[in-house]
Amino acid sequence: MKVVHTIKELQSELSTHKDLYKKIGFVPTMGALHEGHASLMRKSVEDNEVTVASVFVNPTQFNDKNDLLKYPRTLEADCALLQACGVDYVFAPEIAEMYPSEDMRMFSYPPLDEVMEGKHRPGHFNGVCQIVSKLFDAVMPDRAYFGEKDFQQLAIIKKMVDDLKYPIEVIGCPIVRETDGLALSSRNARLSAEERENALNISQALYKSCTFATNHSVEDTQKMVENAITAASGLQLEYFEIVDGNSLQKIANWDETDYAVGCITVFCGDVRLIDNIRYK
Ligand code: AMP
Repeated sequence: MKVVHTIKELQSELSTHKDLYKKIGFVPTMGALHEGHASLMRKSVEDNEVTVASVFVNPTQFNDKNDLLKYPRTLEADCALLQACGVDYVFAPEIAEMYPSEDMRMFSYPPLDEVMEGKHRPGHFNGVCQIVSKLFDAVMPDRAYFGEKDFQQLAIIKKMVDDLKYPIEVIGCPIVRETDGLALSSRNARLSAEERENALNISQALYKSCTFATNHSVEDTQKMVENAITAASGLQLEYFEIVDGNSLQKIANWDETDYAVGCITVFCGDVRLIDNIRYK
């Protein structure tokens, strides 16, 4: 495995593989890697002859500067995990490499980016599209892997790829969870023991709502989850929405769609956690 820091170096490495028509898989990350990321890496290694992972904490997608400052940075441990997964190249650029000047491009994919994370984190998806498009331009992979944990992000990346006609297949990968159900997240490392216990209520409420949903309305299921989070100690609900998995718009009745997903964001102390569950 080779670690490279510049686009020039990366492209010169990849050109040898591209000349031989090797399939290139790409997994963008912000580091502080865990088993969730590892599952994406393994899938890419399985599907492609060459896998590139990027590790870059992208400043333009953080609307909360404190969150950016506190974001864990663990490049050495990340490289060990990536090597164990069979990744071929790690692209770990400095900020100036990705943003030699301010990125003035604006990405807007309504109505996908107007709801949920888009509403609560203004500018977040613009920043995500800025960095992912720059990374796609640098790597030009055949396939790119994203986690369903960031459900809205995955939908918006697919839309961007379609919009900009990138010849890249975007592959969504299932959420990896701790054995007790908590969705793995780089931010989990910031939870105290007590917060970690409180955070468990998020996935538990989602699981419970799945059974509940089989004989209750969308509205009642919505309330059930809201009440479960409000009743749990140390958690503050930012939003819970039951949406159509393609349009990301709220549904009022289960029969409106055959792809219903519940998306949730909760503050656990000052750590912002997201999760989602598919109802059908
Ligand atoms: P991040 O480093 O948080 O930007 O995440 C990089 C990629 O890993 C994104 O596509 C995430 O959706 C994905 N990812 C993060 N956590 C998980 C998880 N628990 N299960 C599956 N994929 C994940």
